[in-house]
Amino acid sequence: MAEARPGRVVPAGTTGLVNNTIEFSAVDGPGNRFVVFTQGCNLDCVACHNPYTINPCIDCGDCVATCPSGALSLDRAGKVLWDASTCTGTEVCIDVCEYDSTPKARTLAVADLLGQLRPAVPFLSGITVSGGEATQQPAFVRSLFAAVKAEFGRLTCFVDTNGDVEAATWNLLHDVMDAAMVDLKCLDDDIHRRITGGSNARVLESIRLLAARGKLHEVRLLLLDGVNDADDLLAATGQWLASIDPRMRVKVIGFRNHGVRPSPVPLREPTAGQRAHYADVLRTQGDFDLVVV
Ligand code: SF4
Ligand code: SF4
Repeated sequence: MAEARPGRVVPAGTTGLVNNTIEFSAVDGPGNRFVVFTQGCNLDCVACHNPYTINPCIDCGDCVATCPSGALSLDRAGKVLWDASTCTGTEVCIDVCEYDSTPKARTLAVADLLGQLRPAVPFLSGITVSGGEATQQPAFVRSLFAAVKAEFGRLTCFVDTNGDVEAATWNLLHDVMDAAMVDLKCLDDDIHRRITGGSNARVLESIRLLAARGKLHEVRLLLLDGVNDADDLLAATGQWLASIDPRMRVKVIGFRNHGVRPSPVPLREPTAGQRAHYADVLRTQGDFDLVVV
């Protein structure tokens, strides 16, 4: 696991540290969804597509002078300020940051998010919190979901998670959360540690627990050519998933290099043929509801 770095205390309760929001998404759970991307993650994946969401900003100031539109500044207390109205979206600040962070994350109240959500509600199926790792801010997620349920009862509330989560967090979210999409980066713990920085023990336990409670929407397998895609490993993964639910919804995701940090050993994207083969291997183990992307 990545070593803890000094940083801002992640806010709890009715505010959260948020990287971004998307009003409409068709790829973050069922139907059309409003998505909240939180800032901060407890893993450090080599294949992370959003590495700037991993850590809260530590206000080192290194990015401030690099902003071509002057949208960044330091206040008297040494805190980095981002002016959204002058930001031109070049993301030079993110490129220059050595802490896998961004100066653009904002502390938002649940009420702020409800204000963004309200105009979109007629066109939405639900809301998804993603990351970073949303469950790192469990009190915020609970408050947000509870508020969404209270005001817009028909909207579903989903969590997109790396699964490295305490059972206590799932207990906290249980009555306000409809379901979760859980990443399983590898069934083999050694490989999992190599590619995420952490053990898969809590990931496996999260999948078991959520399935037993009827709260598991899908398991996502991100597969990297030559890293976690061996046939015997995939067959064992299928067998393990089938032992929980042979009809489980499983999404096979072929790794893509876009946005990923440079790696000492270059990571390779599987071909369409390889992705189809992964699905064939999994099908030998269960009658899964398989999606391949
Ligand atoms: S769990 Fe997700 S956000 Fe966290 S490092 Fe891994 S890929 Fe990135
Ligand atoms: S975003 Fe990164 S470079 Fe900029 S102040 Fe924060 S930690 Fe430093």
